[in-house]
Amino acid sequence: MLTTDITLITHPKSYLHIAPYPKPNLEAFEAPLRLQMAERYLDSHEGTRNFERVKAPRASREDILRVHSPYLYESIRVMSSFGSGNVGESAQASPDLYRNAIISAGAAIKASEVTLENPGRHAFSLMRPPGHHATRSNPAGLCFFNNIAIAITKVMESNDIKRVSILDFDDHYGNGTAEIFYDNPSVQYISIHEYDFENYGLGHYEEIGYEKAEGTNINIPLIDGASDMVYLDAMKRVVLPSIESFSPEIIAISAGFDPHYADPVGNMNIDSSTFWEIGKMLNGAAKKSNVKGSFSVLEGGYNPLATGPSMCGYLLGILGCAKPKLEDQVDRVSVDSLDSANMGIIDQVVSIVSRFW
Ligand SMILES: [Zn+2]
Repeated sequence: MLTTDITLITHPKSYLHIAPYPKPNLEAFEAPLRLQMAERYLDSHEGTRNFERVKAPRASREDILRVHSPYLYESIRVMSSFGSGNVGESAQASPDLYRNAIISAGAAIKASEVTLENPGRHAFSLMRPPGHHATRSNPAGLCFFNNIAIAITKVMESNDIKRVSILDFDDHYGNGTAEIFYDNPSVQYISIHEYDFENYGLGHYEEIGYEKAEGTNINIPLIDGASDMVYLDAMKRVVLPSIESFSPEIIAISAGFDPHYADPVGNMNIDSSTFWEIGKMLNGAAKKSNVKGSFSVLEGGYNPLATGPSMCGYLLGILGCAKPKLEDQVDRVSVDSLDSANMGIIDQVVSIVSRFW
């Protein structure tokens, strides 16, 4: 398969939006270097350097308001004009925030359009800020507009798409995306994420969707330190059969690379070989006859040295290429008891969600 079968959606100003010091805490990680290093890595690898690139357009006000409240939209615009301000928990404005947030949403929309217009092509929105923690009314967790939700809502309306599956493999729970589609039976949301069973929090497997959307919110909450084997088990036993049973026309992926073992924000234990496996499995799922296309939107991934190989592995998997041997693939300690505990959680998830298959 030719390497031109992937389109990257990028923008020359993706490197702006830097939260002003001394406010940043997590914001220090959601910084331009993560994109610069990832793009440089993709440019340097022979399997990924020839990908087509398309410049991201800006999302319109109407695009944003299909998903978000006017208050959220206006508060981001106003705080950006001030040049700083706290618009939510770990969500700091900058002078460039508004412009970059509408470009990031526009990039996700463009990714969905490229894949629908070009059967067989996968489009990846390589933009920041990320989006999956933004709810209808609240920015949070480095996210302002929910890029993937904005893209899906528009593409469903404009192209008469009836069913979309989302896989979110970012380290953290995509609470914003889950909330936005929680009572929508046309959108299946599946998340694999780090979870603290001692303190609970959003993203438990008992959250399954509301009323007519029951069974469409699928959470795979794993204990921190989850290994490559556990992620592959979750994909095979939960993600793939759930997508197959839902029979979507589009598969959208919230691609977060912070489950990487070297990530400073996530605490999982996987490397680029597992991102390749995930991409390969999604490639297989997207080849089903009823699927019109698949696209990915970048979420987290905060170690600039690890995000390049992670993305490279993932995209080569999507392309159906052989597994690359990349420098982050090193032997690491795995703990049998932790693997057993996580596989037990996956058993629980299967018992809950398989009722809807
Ligand atoms: Zn994350």
